[in-house]
Amino acid sequence: MQDIGPKLIEIVGASQVFTGDDIGERYRTDISHKYTSKPAFMVRPASTEEVAAVMRVAAENSVPVTVIGGQTSTCGAAVPVDGGISLSLERMNRIVEIDLISMTMTVEAGCVLQVAHEAAEAEGALLPIDLGARGSATIGGVIGTNAGGNRVLRWGMMRDMVIGVEAVLADGTVISSLTKMLKDNAGYNWKHLLIGSEGTLGVVTRAVLRIRPLPTTRQTALVAMDSFDDAAKVLRRLEVVLSGRLSSFEIMWADFYERMTEAQLPVRPRPMPVGHSHYALLEAMGGDAEVDASQFERALADLMEQGLVKDAVIASSDRERENIWAIREDLGPGMSTMRPFASYDASMGLRDMAAFADDVRASLRAIFPDIQMVFYGHAGDGNLHANISVGALDKEIQRKFDVAVFDAVRRVGGSIAAEHGIGMSRAPYLSWTRSPRELELMAVLKKALDPEHILNPGKLLDAM
Ligand SMILES: Cc1cc2nc3c(=O)[nH]c(=O)nc-3n(C[C@H](O)[C@H](O)[C@H](O)COP(=O)(O)OP(=O)(O)OC[C@H]3O[C@@H](n4cnc5c(N)ncnc54)[C@H](O)[C@@H]3O)c2cc1C
Repeated sequence: MQDIGPKLIEIVGASQVFTGDDIGERYRTDISHKYTSKPAFMVRPASTEEVAAVMRVAAENSVPVTVIGGQTSTCGAAVPVDGGISLSLERMNRIVEIDLISMTMTVEAGCVLQVAHEAAEAEGALLPIDLGARGSATIGGVIGTNAGGNRVLRWGMMRDMVIGVEAVLADGTVISSLTKMLKDNAGYNWKHLLIGSEGTLGVVTRAVLRIRPLPTTRQTALVAMDSFDDAAKVLRRLEVVLSGRLSSFEIMWADFYERMTEAQLPVRPRPMPVGHSHYALLEAMGGDAEVDASQFERALADLMEQGLVKDAVIASSDRERENIWAIREDLGPGMSTMRPFASYDASMGLRDMAAFADDVRASLRAIFPDIQMVFYGHAGDGNLHANISVGALDKEIQRKFDVAVFDAVRRVGGSIAAEHGIGMSRAPYLSWTRSPRELELMAVLKKALDPEHILNPGKLLDAM
């Protein structure tokens, strides 16, 4: 292969091209640390033009390129290819504009999600997409994975927030539709191809995102139920009685709640005793200080009276709200005794969720009697997470976990990836919940947009 180093240096400058051991660990792996790689170059362009020029050099020399964001992918989606280019957009991190009349914000792809949140909030607006990795995940990565998170129930996934996109294609062509129009039915809406494509069809460089008026009230509660069916009824009831203000409904099976709250006891109290079968973190947001809190309290009181909710704690301060959210998001202490563990994020109809969890437990217990499993997730979106451990994790154990979980997903007609994507770890199973015709169509699209197969090879369609 021709040494493309000098050409890359010409484009971005010598200080922005790294090689060999100068490429930090963060640019070679993702947060799962399941995979690592030896890219030949790590390049940090500062503009769309520089990204385009890098892509042209890569295309001319058939060098694979993996665009990376915050590397918070949990499935190896952003692990560069050995000998390829690790393309970091971290210098392209500007908030270009916030338009409070059109209710849009225009951001560069390397902008960290939390920075975008704070910029919107400073202007009295909400960028609704929110997830635990907000402090590291970037707008480009969130678009690349079509991330979901904590508020999909009310505002949808990233796809629902992306109005316009600017991207660089595999051959270096810049394609731009940085519009502020919510409605645009003039032909194929190509941006949706890029959203969720895990860097395999193009490099997103900028986006116009839909923002909303910043809610001024927020009610957060932890509730306990004695069955999954009751939890589902509580969710559906709250959607009605809170008049569409319900923004989060995070379900936790008893094993998850007990483990997380036990591990966090040294730093925060357990909000309510153990002993129930399911718990849920609820959050509603609104704009009427007079009405919202009392409406929320009344709704929970009614659900308790009806016997659907057995116990409830409403946060009365920011501290209490943080303590409740920490049960769901501060997984480190609770998961430390399960390391190494495998994690899954499956998708299915809410109706199938409890049976799915029972199915996975039963089939894995039959193989590993001492297995540890915790189930939790964004129930309102039909998205269930499972963390599974037998105290060791080699390829064979991982395969047995994968087969049990994905077989159960298949039985309920679900998807093996609700929001975290396919990456490398799930690529061998893509066909389990996608038909041969769908896979053929995906391959046609990939070939059309990346004929040289240089964009993030080894991921999504390419089972290694
Ligand atoms: C603690 C924790 C909590 C999480 N919670 C959630 C959650 O609730 N919901 C959820 O959906 N995910 C969640 N995730 C997964 C992860 O945070 C998201 O997938 C996130 O969107 C990835 O952003 P990133 O910038 O880190 O992307 P990376 O991990 O760097 O990249 C992810 C993929 O996007 C591609 N990509 C990156 N930048 C671009 C670009 N500019 N153009 C095109 N493609 C690009 C990469 O090539 C790769 O395929 C969580 C992860 C962690 C660690």
